[in-house]
Amino acid sequence: MPALNELYQEIILDHNKSPRNFRKMPDATRKVEGYNPLCGDHYTVYVKLEDDIIKDISFEGAGCAISKASASVMSATVKGKTKAEAEELFESFHTLVTGKMDGMAEISTLGKLAAFSGVSEFPARVKCATLAWHTLKAALEAKEEVVTTE
Ligand code: ZN
Repeated sequence: MPALNELYQEIILDHNKSPRNFRKMPDATRKVEGYNPLCGDHYTVYVKLEDDIIKDISFEGAGCAISKASASVMSATVKGKTKAEAEELFESFHTLVTGKMDGMAEISTLGKLAAFSGVSEFPARVKCATLAWHTLKAALEAKEEVVTTE
């Protein structure tokens, strides 16, 4: 389905060029750094967690197009969600990018996250696509540490 692939490509290009929620958050309640040494992607994820709800989320840092677009789409997707919902989305996203999700119906429920379905064809890129998510997970679990994908 070339039309769909083009749409996915466009989402990634757009979020890489103009990443959403790309800023420091001085009043964040959680802040975790994520690093992918294989590619050099390096981000800090800021979360404002209130009563288990992600009231606000932002990130800053640098890395490849996939890692940056993924952090951007993630931030837009999980804002306003509960901790549990965000963790569930990460599970689905991980299943998607590792190529274990089958069926367009299931993939299409992921909204913009589905744009990363092509990543499953490039195993080295899976770490780029999931870096921000791993970092978010550590932030939600209140782990004050540096996350690496190794
Ligand atoms: Zn990368």
